[in-house]
Amino acid sequence: MNDLKLASLNGEANRRTIITVDEVKIGKDFVVIAGPCSVESEEQTLATAQKVKEAGANMLRGGAFKPRSSPYAFQGLGLKGLKILEKAKKETGLPIVTEVLDTRDVSWVCEYADILQIGTRNMQNFSLLKEVGKVNKPVLLKRGMYSTLNEWLSCAEYILAEGNPDVILCERGIRSIETYTRNTLDLAIVPAAKEVSHLPIFVDPSHGTGRLSLIEPMSLASLASGADGIMIEVHYNPKEAICDKDQAMSPQMFSGIMDKLRMLRPVMDQIRRKGSMRKLEQVI
Ligand code: PEP
Ligand code: MN
Repeated sequence: MNDLKLASLNGEANRRTIITVDEVKIGKDFVVIAGPCSVESEEQTLATAQKVKEAGANMLRGGAFKPRSSPYAFQGLGLKGLKILEKAKKETGLPIVTEVLDTRDVSWVCEYADILQIGTRNMQNFSLLKEVGKVNKPVLLKRGMYSTLNEWLSCAEYILAEGNPDVILCERGIRSIETYTRNTLDLAIVPAAKEVSHLPIFVDPSHGTGRLSLIEPMSLASLASGADGIMIEVHYNPKEAICDKDQAMSPQMFSGIMDKLRMLRPVMDQIRRKGSMRKLEQVI
């Protein structure tokens, strides 16, 4: 990998970054972030937060600043949205993951966010990367929709080089010739990233597929691929979602995925233990 000093493994195959956010240990446990695409109202966010908490989510997501393809689409509630997220955290205890779009907003968004999200469209916004590199909040760096692994890790390097060691990668699908799905979810990038980097890696099957029916199989496949967690968009009333309606999942469906993830987790743990025993046998 070109020019990677801090993001790469540098020959230490077993080195892993673990990031602690409240009770959650990213890079150690399998972590589920869930919540609406955007914060639309207090009622919508609090009700959704309550439901995802009941289902077993570890963190709440929700955009207060939305990077929309059209300038006429809903752009998010801004500060009002962040205050709603703060209330949701108070009520549920769930840490908050929210996107920051502008260098001028980074320091004050930090007062509300437990994890700052950098969206796919801003992956190579180098001023923004440098700015989030100066704060003491973890950064969830989404993969640019046209980016290679090396380009993505170089962007992580920008954040690390400024002194912030807590970067989480998030695969959210890339553009390909396929049109049936919104994006092409590149799950092979999960073990690939782990071969070259110590950073934790998440998968976002909501944006990665854009189709409700595909989110469950891709969530299970994410766990099987070795991802450190997933991020799913959930809305208490999906038909009314203002943003990303086609992929907005009901709390009930989300709860079903959580049940299946709980079933798969011990199986994958067992398989991984077998993998490391093999390695041990080879050494002996
Ligand atoms: C989001 O998570 O709401 C989002 C806008 O994602 P992406 O940047 O991956 O499109
Ligand atoms: Mn969205």
